[in-house]
Order: sequence, then C-alpha cells, then structure tokens
Amino acid sequence: TSAHDDLRALVRTIPDFPKSGIKFRDITTLLLDPAGFARTIDALATTVEGPVDLVAAVEARGFAIGGALAVKLGAGLLLIRKDGKLPGATIAEDYALEYGTDRLAMHVDACAPGAKVLIVDDLLATGGTALAAARLIRRAGGELVGARFVIDLPELGGSEALSDAGIGVASLMN
Ligand code: IMP
Repeated sequence: TSAHDDLRALVRTIPDFPKSGIKFRDITTLLLDPAGFARTIDALATTVEGPVDLVAAVEARGFAIGGALAVKLGAGLLLIRKDGKLPGATIAEDYALEYGTDRLAMHVDACAPGAKVLIVDDLLATGGTALAAARLIRRAGGELVGARFVIDLPELGGSEALSDAGIGVASLMN
C-alpha cells in the first residue's frame, strides 16, 4: 500500500460524517484530480489477472471507479443499486452497513450464467455491502473473480469476511 502514497494524499478525511465519531474517507478529492484518478484506475487494473466479463459496481461512488475500470479492462458494467432505483425486474439482498441496514438490487437478467464478475467499490469496511453484491451475482449464476477497492479499513474485517466467502480481495491503500 505504501506504493500508493501519492493516491493516499488525494483522499480527504471528513470528521464526524455521517455521524459523530466517524472519520469518513472521502475519495471525491481523488476523483477531481485527473492524474490521480487515472493512476487509481491503472493501479486497480494491474491487480486483475485473467478475463473479466462484467464489473459489478456498487452505488454510488463505486459507479465512478467501476465504470472507469470496466472500460480499462474491456468489461461491461453491471450496476448494483439501492433497492427501488432500477427500472426492470430485480433481485434484492439485505445487508448490514457500517451505519445501518439497507437493501441492494440488480436487474435479474444483468448477468449471464457463468459470466466472470469483478465487484468494485470505493471502500471496504465490514464487507457487508460487498457480500450482499456477491450474493446477488451468485444467485444470478455469475462467477465471482474477486473484489477491488480503493480503500480498505482493515480493522473492520471486510477483507477476511470476503476471503471466507471465497472472494479474493485487493485494495490500493489501508
Ligand atoms: P461495509 O459494507 O461495512 O464494507 O461498508 C462499505 C460501504 O460503505 C461502501 O459502499 C462505502 O462506500 C461505504 N463507506 C463506509 N465507510 C465509508 C467511508 O469512510 N468513506 C466512504 N464510504 C464509506
């Protein structure tokens, strides 16, 4: 992770968001930096071995990272959204977020059986969000090839939780 000190410097920490005592790691400043954004996508791409058919990106900051990474990898982009946002028929999974509970959904026909799918989000905390995304993809018959994040908060155990579910994890910084 020390190899990405330049990218780390572009992440901003906002104290007491979304509630008191939380240090929010904000990648919007990284996205605003053209060279930093490009290096982020390049660095994530180098962690990916083997073919990827679909990048499954989690709303909302995951769309920015996942969309750019999908183009870089020559993959399609599968949008995983909060329940109620997608117009077509969906499947949904409940999950525990660091700051509450919620429900993620994907279009039921978005992922062909056997498609190789890479989950992408900005940040990994407990892993609850990514695991819900993984359950959706597996229900649809997709083959998970891993999960990628800009930031991992290792003390929250998300990386272990994903590994326990058979999902290989890489991130650019802790
Ligand atoms: P998890 O489900 O506990 O792994 O939390 C990860 C999800 O919450 C991701 O979708 C993140 O975007 C969001 N999240 C949690 N903490 C932060 C933070 O400090 N900065 C940005 N996003 C966060």
